[in-house]
Amino acid sequence: MIIKKNISLKTFTTIRLGGIGKKILFPENLEDIHSITDILISPKTLILGKGSNIAFNDKGYNGNIISLKYFKKTDISIENKKYINLSANISCARLAKYCYKKKIPGFEFLHGIPGTLGGALIMNAGAFKQEIWDSVHSARFVDSHGALKVWPRERFKTSYRKIYRDKIALFLDLTLMINTKKKFNKDLLGKYSNLRTDTQPVKQWSSGCIFKNPSKDISASYLIDSSDILPRRIGGIYISNKHCNYFINDGTGTCKDLVKLIEHVQNVVKGKYNILLKKEICIF
Ligand SMILES: Cc1cc2nc3c(=O)[nH]c(=O)nc-3n(C[C@H](O)[C@H](O)[C@H](O)COP(=O)(O)OP(=O)(O)OC[C@H]3O[C@@H](n4cnc5c(N)ncnc54)[C@H](O)[C@@H]3O)c2cc1C
Repeated sequence: MIIKKNISLKTFTTIRLGGIGKKILFPENLEDIHSITDILISPKTLILGKGSNIAFNDKGYNGNIISLKYFKKTDISIENKKYINLSANISCARLAKYCYKKKIPGFEFLHGIPGTLGGALIMNAGAFKQEIWDSVHSARFVDSHGALKVWPRERFKTSYRKIYRDKIALFLDLTLMINTKKKFNKDLLGKYSNLRTDTQPVKQWSSGCIFKNPSKDISASYLIDSSDILPRRIGGIYISNKHCNYFINDGTGTCKDLVKLIEHVQNVVKGKYNILLKKEICIF
């Protein structure tokens, strides 16, 4: 198993924020996972996907970090034309492309989400009115006592951008349901991609949306946009002009800047609308 010590965490996040990580463990197979069960179930241990919804503190992360980056992936496979089996460390983009090639409808929304399926399960990632848990049939995970479990979807409690995860230490793989009633639309993936590049700063250092939408009818970006936030920048972190729920790191930003900008936006929006915006980004 590869272990890296005292390593900069910046490059492990898409917003490029964080100090030094004490230790990152990269289990490569189930045996490695078993050998680190004690570490895995410790509340101080953090699981890292592609870091596309994470910012680390400037002081770094003192606990252990576990990444499935080098974990042996089982190839994506189709079962009985009804199910898709895959590892949790496979990227959302790869799944979306696989389904596109096989003309399987329903997973186009995952194309622009730059994370892993494991991260998507934890965040209940979604876009274009779809969420990953709409399609989950079952998932295999290491539970909070270190046991391997397979649960059907009904046993997991999820809501908008959230899973109730007290029993879950690490997602290993999952089975998705193919909606056989849906028709494949070859233009949909391209349409979603264009919509993203037109409206979101996808090429800059960010972690996607900073805040969750307060409800189905009110978007966080509407509240931010209409609150005339000033200043729009703190240190090296600024509110994107293309999509105001994206905060960008210009390369000089710190996690402290990010936290200050988050609090500043929360205060202004609370003052104007009496709504407290809740964070979607995970700050460790
Ligand atoms: C440009 C951009 C666009 C984005 N667009 C969207 C969007 O449209 N919709 C959306 O919902 N999100 C979006 N995001 C946010 C992000 O991509 C998603 O939340 C994604 O699902 C996170 O996956 P990850 O692998 O990067 O997880 P990480 O950011 O690495 O981790 C997120 C959380 O999941 C946990 N975790 C990760 N893997 C596992 C695992 N295998 N087992 C247990 N816990 C795990 C981590 O501990 C952490 O708590 C966007 C981000 C960016 C940068």
